Amino acid sequence: MATQFTIEGLKAEIEGKEILKGVSLSMKGGEIHAIMGPNGTGKSTLASALMGHPKYEVTAGTAELNGEDVLEMGVDERALAGLFLAMQYPSEITGVTNSDFLRSAINARREEGNEISLIKFIRQMEGKMKELEMNPEFAHRYLNEGFSGGEKKRNEILQMMLLDPKVVILDEIDSGLDIDALKVVAQGVNAMRADDRAFLIITHYQRLLDYVKPDFVHVMMQGRIVKSGGPELAERLEAEGYDWVKVELGIVDETVGQA
Ligand code: ADP
Ligand code: MG
Repeated sequence: MATQFTIEGLKAEIEGKEILKGVSLSMKGGEIHAIMGPNGTGKSTLASALMGHPKYEVTAGTAELNGEDVLEMGVDERALAGLFLAMQYPSEITGVTNSDFLRSAINARREEGNEISLIKFIRQMEGKMKELEMNPEFAHRYLNEGFSGGEKKRNEILQMMLLDPKVVILDEIDSGLDIDALKVVAQGVNAMRADDRAFLIITHYQRLLDYVKPDFVHVMMQGRIVKSGGPELAERLEAEGYDWVKVELGIVDETVGQA
């Protein structure tokens, strides 16, 4: 089935404070959407709320993947349905090796009795690690433990490649990457572009979008998507910052408390 992911009027709060104030977004397989916006506007909150992070309470709205309401699903079910989030700050898990983690995640998506064979898994993992120019020893290290910022980000992309999700959310996958690592990550994303897969790339800077061309660019401010356009919008934001958007929309800067 052609992938369709539709978010409508999504509101979410953290500890009683409303962060998302009605986010609507429609994405189809094959499309790359970018969300840009100043810090603290709710971009990571959107990602976490969609993935079902327990800290974020959804108070209104819907998010449907191919007609199924993902907000009704548990965290594992969302992953099984095909949602994937590469986190801004990936967690370290001591005691679980990267390869064990990846194999269990792959097998969780397969029926019992149809688990991936160890040989096949290793071949796939090693192939993808090579594409991402990762040192093979990372397979046997504990998940993210002692990984540098850039190594964590490559590892998130490795997970994405092996899990073959339908909706990929990348939260600031470009932060902390030098230009070579950025290119490797971008290649990984481009290689995964497919007709039945949609990407939501959250980024603070236009830099990544030089290598991964978005079809749509959305600006998020104060918990809402306030403007959408094509790639030219990202270029203008990079050149001029966000002030012109605020002026255009008459947004009052809450942190300053005046227009
Ligand atoms: P962005 O990703 O756009 O920089 P976030 O979604 O991380 O923004 O944060 C949006 C707002 O929610 C900020 O004001 C931030 O301080 C607040 N916030 C985010 N996570 C938490 C949390 N776990 N506890 C309390 N406040 C939070
Ligand atoms: Mg963030």
